[in-house]
Amino acid sequence: MTCINIAPVKFSNNSFLKKIIKELNSRFRSDISLLALDLEMEQTYSEDRGQFFSSQIISLSTPLTQSVPGKILLITEVDLFVPVLTFVFGEAQLNGKHSIVSVCRLHEEFYSGISDDDLLFQRTMKEVLHELGHCFGLLHCIDWDCVMHSSQGIEEVDIKGNFYCKTCARSVDGLK
Ligand SMILES: [Zn+2]
Ligand SMILES: [Zn+2]
Repeated sequence: MTCINIAPVKFSNNSFLKKIIKELNSRFRSDISLLALDLEMEQTYSEDRGQFFSSQIISLSTPLTQSVPGKILLITEVDLFVPVLTFVFGEAQLNGKHSIVSVCRLHEEFYSGISDDDLLFQRTMKEVLHELGHCFGLLHCIDWDCVMHSSQGIEEVDIKGNFYCKTCARSVDGLK
């Protein structure tokens, strides 16, 4: 079974991390571990955009995680971008080892100024499962109830479901 490693980078909310790991443990039979990574994130910062380049963060983590088995999901508080887009909630290597999720734009404060911890957790779990799904080889799904539906904006994160549909679930190793 493919184990899953959660690696916080510029992410300091430990109780939130524990909650994510607990939820993943309830969804997967595989081992879910916390992985400490020392990344030089400043290298990936764009002064012009005030954001961090997600693909570069993944590249930086690759040589440090060669001996780590399974999938690696980086989680960060900083805002992420790829050059063609204004921002990304996350990025993943299709059928690969690494993915990253940013909670920056999953905070309700970002939109309405009102904080909502439960909503933040629901949104984060959707994006975590979504990026992991890409690592297990899944493309975007047309089913709105499926967590593999694409979400370019926060409304689309909120509308989609928080489980893999039956078809997508078949590709994800270790699901309960
Ligand atoms: Zn996607
Ligand atoms: Zn699906």
